[in-house]
Amino acid sequence: MAQIVQRPAATPTTHCTPDQYDALYQQSLDDPDGFWLEQAKRLDWFDQPTKGAEWSFAPPDIKWFSDGTLNLCHNAVDRHLGTHGDTTALIFEPDSPDAPGRSLTYSELYGEVVRVANALKAMGAGKGDRVTLYMPMVLEGVFAMLACARIGAIHSVVFGGFSPESLAGRIEACDSKFIITADEGLRGSKRVPLKANIDAALDQLDAPVTGVLVFKHTGADITMTEGRDHWFTDLASDDDCPCEVVNAEDPLFILYTSGSTGKPKGVVHTTGGYGLWAATTFHYTFDYQPGEVFWCSADIGWVTGHTYVTYGPLINAGTSLVFEGVPNYPDHGRFWDVIDKHQVNIFYTAPTAIRALMREGDEYVTSRDLSSLRLLGTVGEPINPEAWRWYHNVVGKGASPIVDTWWQTETGGHMITTLPYAHDMKPGSAGKPFFGIRPQLVDNDGNELSGAAEGNLCITDSWPGQARTVYGDHDRFHEAYFSTYPGKYFTGDGCRRDEDGYYWITGRVDDVINVSGHRMGTAEVESALVLHPKVSEAAVVGFPHDIKGQGIYCYVTLNAGEEQSDELQAELRQWVRKEIGPIATPDMLHFTEGLPKTRSGKIMRRILRKIAENDYGSLGDTSTLADPSLVDSLIEGRQNT
Ligand code: ATP
Ligand code: MG
Repeated sequence: MAQIVQRPAATPTTHCTPDQYDALYQQSLDDPDGFWLEQAKRLDWFDQPTKGAEWSFAPPDIKWFSDGTLNLCHNAVDRHLGTHGDTTALIFEPDSPDAPGRSLTYSELYGEVVRVANALKAMGAGKGDRVTLYMPMVLEGVFAMLACARIGAIHSVVFGGFSPESLAGRIEACDSKFIITADEGLRGSKRVPLKANIDAALDQLDAPVTGVLVFKHTGADITMTEGRDHWFTDLASDDDCPCEVVNAEDPLFILYTSGSTGKPKGVVHTTGGYGLWAATTFHYTFDYQPGEVFWCSADIGWVTGHTYVTYGPLINAGTSLVFEGVPNYPDHGRFWDVIDKHQVNIFYTAPTAIRALMREGDEYVTSRDLSSLRLLGTVGEPINPEAWRWYHNVVGKGASPIVDTWWQTETGGHMITTLPYAHDMKPGSAGKPFFGIRPQLVDNDGNELSGAAEGNLCITDSWPGQARTVYGDHDRFHEAYFSTYPGKYFTGDGCRRDEDGYYWITGRVDDVINVSGHRMGTAEVESALVLHPKVSEAAVVGFPHDIKGQGIYCYVTLNAGEEQSDELQAELRQWVRKEIGPIATPDMLHFTEGLPKTRSGKIMRRILRKIAENDYGSLGDTSTLADPSLVDSLIEGRQNT
């Protein structure tokens, strides 16, 4: 059924050929300690580790490289000064194409990071302290992360779109006494009142926040509280600021999951294992070559931004592009303008952005010169084969391989992905396990399923980039990931493995529908709907059905300019029937202007499920919903469906 898209031929500089993948993967399973201690040489250690993994999943207790010491800021900045001082480290593209951008070398990055680190120290921050970052998507956000790492402080980045209430909760949860923010942010020409939100959040808190460091960005008039709030320029200095020596297992950051399936979890990543995972996955998955411009469009408020805007590229002495804006401002061609302007070679974005841009037609893409592109990537949700092909053919002109990278906040970096010159691609499949990863599919009783099979996706062995705990709540860590199938890390995702050993994420296990005894992933029905030329996006959930047990409820958004009608509804039912089979025929079709998404762009099916069930009283944690007003219009639509 699946069409295979051939990988491009390897070149002399390709990092991983098919034979190399097979050999390295085997070696990583046979001798994980030997393999990872060798890979650990990608990092510069103050004390080279001699210990590899020490772990148990029952209960979870995970360590890697526990006798190693290092500093990730040193790895991302200082150690490059000799060899890459003049290499471009970061490129900044502002929200408005008319505003000035900036690019800076590793030498300049060093100076900036030291200044922020000194400002943090001047506020009294030091090793082990939690520092909350609430920043726009500007270079200073990256400086601030690295500055925390430099002094051994633990950063907790809160996406700049969160409300004062969510912000307050996240500051309190990690008992953070220091905050780094800006006067305002900019997104699609709209101003985001970051400092005012900080003030509102701090008003709600009893906990003493002692220092707020403020960057001037838009120049807006803001309130500064004497003794607590400081302009960055008043505290910055170029004094010597050596990197703090930290243990591999000292925490690097706390970060919240997207909240697609429930209340977000504040997961903790440590320095050595995470740093190595970021470095290794960036190197192999993107086959990064010196001098290339890499652009990951994720915000630093998400793990994708942590690993593939900041740490992965910079540890590899790469050039990383930071984009402040949004895909549709000033028009739907903005992404492609940025690629054209900065000659981006590798572009990494989310299916939600791809579907939104595809909906607007090809003209926005074909009118820009994208010839610099060599490789494309996606992350965040299953990508519908239809969107994959558009990305491949229209954006990549059929020449750029696509890496569909499956991973989670908790995994630190890529877990399942094709490698661009080692594996052929199957649109809709993430591909093969990364080095050291042992995926396992199990049935609901935890029995291992072998060969081609579909089940619940677990990982049986620890890997260096694995989260170590949920901050302040190790029991929740245990409960959420290791209690469903004792002894295994349970991802929460459903997955199919085909006869070639390729993995297909079928959606969240909680979202699996059971229609007349047939289990069905939501991704498959959604992909069938999106294949229809008039459909832009679809989200599918189950709802109670007298005869079938569960019925199939489909929320559908249409392409720009398309009108909803009874005929189209009937046509879509037939369409899914033909694509998948009569068992998948939608029972309910609900046209909507939009789908509820997390602020990181994922469809929140648990809310759609509640609405489909006519159960509006308990929608659960909605703090990470991007557009809460959509919920009312969906409820109204439900009543008319
Ligand atoms: P929460 O854990 O709070 O419910 P979340 O799982 O959405 O939120 P993230 O860590 O941002 O938080 O997302 C990880 C999830 O995203 C994965 O478990 C998977 O469901 C989905 N995902 C990520 N990349 C892919 C991909 N390439 N293909 C399919 N699904 C993906
Ligand atoms: Mg999750």
